[in-house]
Amino acid sequence: MLHIKNLQAEIDGKEILKGINLEVKPGEVHAIMGPNGAGKSTLASILAGRQDYTVTGGSVTFDGKDLLDLSPEERAGEGLFLSFQYPVEIPGVSTTNFIKTAVNEVRKYRGEEPLDAVAFLKMMKEKMALMEMDQTMLSRSLNEGFSGGEKKRNEIFQMAMLQPKLAILDETDSGLDIDAIRVVANGVNKLRSSENAVLAITHYQRLLDYLVPDFVHVLYNGRIVKSGTKELALELEEKGYDFIKAEMQEAS
Ligand code: ADP
Ligand code: MG
Ligand code: MG
Repeated sequence: MLHIKNLQAEIDGKEILKGINLEVKPGEVHAIMGPNGAGKSTLASILAGRQDYTVTGGSVTFDGKDLLDLSPEERAGEGLFLSFQYPVEIPGVSTTNFIKTAVNEVRKYRGEEPLDAVAFLKMMKEKMALMEMDQTMLSRSLNEGFSGGEKKRNEIFQMAMLQPKLAILDETDSGLDIDAIRVVANGVNKLRSSENAVLAITHYQRLLDYLVPDFVHVLYNGRIVKSGTKELALELEEKGYDFIKAEMQEAS
């Protein structure tokens, strides 16, 4: 589904990603962990199509298409979802209208008719129940005055409505409390299927207690230096990132 080959990127002339290789197949959950400044958010931003970074080498294909060639809207249309670290507040735009627009843009991209009001409401109700969401949230302006937990719940709700093939969750610096972590993990778990995949970027092993990954990768200084199963996350939690550093020094 997702093939990242030797991806290199820089910002303001500073090399940040130094050759990332990663393959994600349908049905898999991958976690990317790593210390602050390793390049995790940079990787997520490049996959989402943000313009601040310059890709200097390598390739990314998504379902056989050159992802880096697509606009952010086209990426969403192809079935990519990125949970934003700091969801924007949009005064005057209700959460409902925001989601309706997003859903219908994706449908349009796929050559499908927009959902009519009845079908849209039905889907909203279904997904709200699934996410155990409070209906009153939807009439409020997007993210305005939402607590951290509410923002997260809303984000995962958006994901449920969009039904992406690949969800990229960057939770690194958002300071989630334990309730928000559970909301994210439970929501994502409910959406898991053999057809979709998740790339969860986190430095909390705690998230992975609830959202159990098939693979764990350590991103360190712009490279994936170690990959393993969920036990690797536990080892990192126990030993910190210093043991990766030590292993790398031994190897060189
Ligand atoms: P992580 O998410 O793993 O903590 P980031 O991808 O946010 O790491 O950052 C990787 C490196 O890129 C850091 O050294 C950071 O200072 C640098 N960086 C990220 N964004 C910018 C930016 N807008 N301008 C300059 N440097 C940046
Ligand atoms: Mg950071
Ligand atoms: Mg980050």
